[in-house]
Amino acid sequence: MAYLTRIPAGRIFGFCSRSISSPIKNPFVSSTLSHVPSPKFTITAQFSSSPSPSSAETNTQVFSSSNRWRPMCLYYTQGKCTQMDDPSHLEKFNHDCSRDLQVNPALIEKKCSQDLDFLLVIDLEGKVEILEFPVLLMDAKSMRFVDFFHRFVRPTKMSELAVNRYIEGKYGEIGVDRVWHDTAQPFTEVIQQFEAWLSQHNLWEKEKGGCLTRAAFVTCGNWDLKTKVPQQCQVSGIKLPPYFREWVNLKDVYLNFYGREARGMMSMMKQLGIPSLGCHHLGIDDSKNIARVLQRMLADGALMQITAKRNPESQKVEFLFENRIEHPVRRRQA
Ligand SMILES: [Zn+2]
Repeated sequence: MAYLTRIPAGRIFGFCSRSISSPIKNPFVSSTLSHVPSPKFTITAQFSSSPSPSSAETNTQVFSSSNRWRPMCLYYTQGKCTQMDDPSHLEKFNHDCSRDLQVNPALIEKKCSQDLDFLLVIDLEGKVEILEFPVLLMDAKSMRFVDFFHRFVRPTKMSELAVNRYIEGKYGEIGVDRVWHDTAQPFTEVIQQFEAWLSQHNLWEKEKGGCLTRAAFVTCGNWDLKTKVPQQCQVSGIKLPPYFREWVNLKDVYLNFYGREARGMMSMMKQLGIPSLGCHHLGIDDSKNIARVLQRMLADGALMQITAKRNPESQKVEFLFENRIEHPVRRRQA
């Protein structure tokens, strides 16, 4: 990028229009199907002073003025964009997941050392069944974005009519219902692909018990891994994969590190002075926003530690932080 400037918050807040779904010639035949973007290590962000009392000058959102904020191409995020050679499509949709996740190199010296090497930010969507499975892989030590895994998920135990209504209600209003219908796959297939992706990044070995190595999931609340994934595994008739047995609830780390409560992603962002990008309740955009909160917390010196663990025998979840948000407002869904 040639030069950088801050985008006024007014252009970022509340941007939620995806009325033009990415048209696709044939969603299932694509030369880019297996394409995974290579890590982008260009560090270009600058930082402005922050309203947070915790530390100054750690905002993580600055974008090139020549590259205004654009919604992600949701075919691309799932390896199914067939229009990478169409300039008007590239102009409309972002095809670089790292764009909103760039950090200031000066911060890398300020942050504290981390025990974990990698953090997997996950923010599921779906109330009855999981509809979207987005994961962002972040380097815990450099705070950099490394890669992502994103799939829309097709419910298996709902009638077609119910699914259509469900999708229209949830994704129709933000213009992503078409891409959902074009790309959604059953949860069991998504999990298989996710495991291949984990293996590709050396984060997981089935033979060694199937837990994550050097990495942990980061969630905003306990709902995703305490409630939703086990429920979906039951519905889909599979065993809960061992790597889903522990996670870092960012809200608990936030409470203990800053000494103040944040009930959700939006309140963490508000308290830290980080403007939200994209559509709230679109999983890939929410994950990016959570990742930006995470980057900021790493930069401020917060140590990422496991906050919850599931006992493989009893299935009971043990919470490891004494000081935690006991009764979070029930998470928004669907
Ligand atoms: Zn595209």
